[in-house]
Amino acid sequence: MQQYAEYSDQYIDGSWRPSGDPGSITVLNPATEQVLATVPAGGATDVDAAVTAARRAARSWGATTREERLALLTRLRDGLAAAQNEITETVVAELGAPVGFTAAVHAGLPLTVTTSYLDLLAEHSFEERIGNSVVHAEPAGVVAAITPWNYPLHQIVAKVVPALAAGCPVVLKPAEDTPLVARLFARLVHEAGFPAGAFNLVTGTGELAGAALVGHPGVDVVSFTGSTAVGRQVAETAGRNLKRVALELGGKSANVVLPGSNITRAVKTNVANVFANSGQTCSAWTRLLVHEDQYEEAITRAAKAAAQYVPGDPTDPQTRIGPVVNAKQLARVRGYIDGALAEGARLVVGGSEPVAELPTGYYVRPTVLADVTPEMTVAQEEVFGPVLVILPYRDEDHAVELANGTPYGLAGGVWGRDTDTAAAFARRLDTGQVDLNGGRFNPLAPFGGYKNSGLGRELGRHGLEEFLRYKSLQY
Ligand code: NAD
Repeated sequence: MQQYAEYSDQYIDGSWRPSGDPGSITVLNPATEQVLATVPAGGATDVDAAVTAARRAARSWGATTREERLALLTRLRDGLAAAQNEITETVVAELGAPVGFTAAVHAGLPLTVTTSYLDLLAEHSFEERIGNSVVHAEPAGVVAAITPWNYPLHQIVAKVVPALAAGCPVVLKPAEDTPLVARLFARLVHEAGFPAGAFNLVTGTGELAGAALVGHPGVDVVSFTGSTAVGRQVAETAGRNLKRVALELGGKSANVVLPGSNITRAVKTNVANVFANSGQTCSAWTRLLVHEDQYEEAITRAAKAAAQYVPGDPTDPQTRIGPVVNAKQLARVRGYIDGALAEGARLVVGGSEPVAELPTGYYVRPTVLADVTPEMTVAQEEVFGPVLVILPYRDEDHAVELANGTPYGLAGGVWGRDTDTAAAFARRLDTGQVDLNGGRFNPLAPFGGYKNSGLGRELGRHGLEEFLRYKSLQY
């Protein structure tokens, strides 16, 4: 007997309608390996219907007043607030993130970000006088939003909310592993009363639905979050058609502990940072850089902190680390650990063996590796699992060289004896965000990468501007 939900519809042009494409995607619970649901594997037909609806809506949605958009987005925010428990349950089930973390981050952060856009929209100036010109900020057109599974609702909200606030209609293609929270979001958009076509959802694979969306002539802006490899393809296609593109890609961020800083706090915070969400965070500090005189101390402290992270059932409020998202990811993370050991890394804690107490579910041992050299694969590539590598540096210049020595540049941390020292060091890093002495996440600050970590920025005013284009009228 079938125990799971079988969805066959997409949210297009203001209503749920049967998918016009064949095939479906099976959604698994990564902790139990049970089927949660099936959703349609949309393709060219669904994408075309969604883009057509969005195009039809573009002029009228773009002509709405700030007050009209604010009223609808406020209703959406209220819907997100009312659905916090349902969002948490959904993300725990399809992503396997621990329930406490999920409630705070996967459900809570989208609410914070949506609220931040209500404040921004209320005060943003869409008109500016420059000499004899008046410059109007206008909606940039139909937006294709393509999102990954690791922060599934946050990444949706970080694109869809500013796009709608800017007056752009959106077609969302969420990740294959986490379409259920995307469906829940579509329901909340519908309940908020947005006009038909302003928001559309097409579930499907990247190869079919994603590629069809990026290549569709009716799309003006592509906002993509995912791997650098796919981001490159998306940029190529968008470039050929002169579509605007924003890319939030991978990372291999460094956390640099300078002499004289609070190493206890720095290492503990780093371990928490890298094991959160089972290490599936693009901005995670996956490389800990410490002065050679403090190297063994840092390893001991990291081992002690890592012992607090015991993989377990994500529905248990005591659990701090759940499974990774799927079997492929599990094999990939274990492969990186084995590869690092083969290249000469020292296993401090963890390892690639299965978690004996958890025979079901995609669990990885939280792992700390020492004696990692900068050229090793595990020091260069994004693992996207709970794996921290520790590297020693000789002096500040060497620390800068190591921190900047990967193709990525998304985030980072710096710990100094005071914040001025940390800030001076951070200014030398080729990366989009740096937290100084444990500085808090700021949802209004631009988020995005240098180098292979991406193009463009999300969140705050910079995120809104990704969806605006400018017209100058000369008087
Ligand atoms: P992915 O690139 O495989 O998939 C991301 C999205 O792109 C999915 O919706 C997928 O279906 C779609 N896609 C795949 N192939 C496509 C194609 N040819 N055309 C159009 N769309 C396509 O990445 P993933 O495995 O889902 O996510 C993990 C990666 O995302 C990691 O590398 C991580 O660092 C990165 N990431 C970056 C950020 C950021 O903000 N910088 C945030 C989260 C994740």
